[in-house]
Amino acid sequence: MSTEAQAGKGSHGLNIILLGPPGAGKGTQAARLVEERGMVQLSTGDMLRAAVKADTPLGREARLVMDRGELISDEIVSGLIGEALDRIPLSTGVIFDGYPRTAEQAVSLDRLLAERGRTLDHVIELAVDEDALVDRITGRFSCAQCGAGYHDRHKLPARSGVCDACGSTDFKRRPDDNEDTVRTRMAEYRGKTAPILPIFDARGIVRRVDGMASMEHVAEAISDILGQH
Ligand code: AMP
Repeated sequence: MSTEAQAGKGSHGLNIILLGPPGAGKGTQAARLVEERGMVQLSTGDMLRAAVKADTPLGREARLVMDRGELISDEIVSGLIGEALDRIPLSTGVIFDGYPRTAEQAVSLDRLLAERGRTLDHVIELAVDEDALVDRITGRFSCAQCGAGYHDRHKLPARSGVCDACGSTDFKRRPDDNEDTVRTRMAEYRGKTAPILPIFDARGIVRRVDGMASMEHVAEAISDILGQH
């Protein structure tokens, strides 16, 4: 955004979408923005996993769909986003991670933002190679205590079975991070999510970032797009 446009937002926080297939690094980059800029990350995947863990009626309904790698209904996820937005002050920037995923969700997001006096500033597309993603996703696991991320082939803890960050010996894997489900999630992305890019492109707010670059390079590219903070 130009300095003028930034100034025009007054004390409003930035509203951005991180868009990309599963494993593109949306969650990782969102976590950095939360830490570095005090933005809030709204991940519909995290919200749904929390509902599954708490065994709520929504969680019970969502679990099987998620295990298959298919999409939850637009109405449910847009409802979750609306409720979450109501709890965030306008001055706080928001990162949409894993939402919107369909054209209908993209329309809902516009409405949800407009109703709350917010505008969408950037859509950051993390461009990645699909085969590399399958390798990335099927090896990933994280510390069950602090959430630090690891990988079977690329990033094991320094001491086997012990988290580098907090010393916990408890690790977890997402049940939908197996190859079959990952392929379905990719197909859902290709068929339903990638086609929404032109909607935002027509408004001139899409910026493409090479998601295969190192985590630091991706973070720098995103920082350049968002500007000073
Ligand atoms: P994620 O953590 O973003 O990869 O999402 C994990 C799973 O949650 C997806 O494979 C879907 O089953 C479901 N999910 C998350 N976000 C959405 C969304 N915006 N629309 C529909 N389903 C979603």
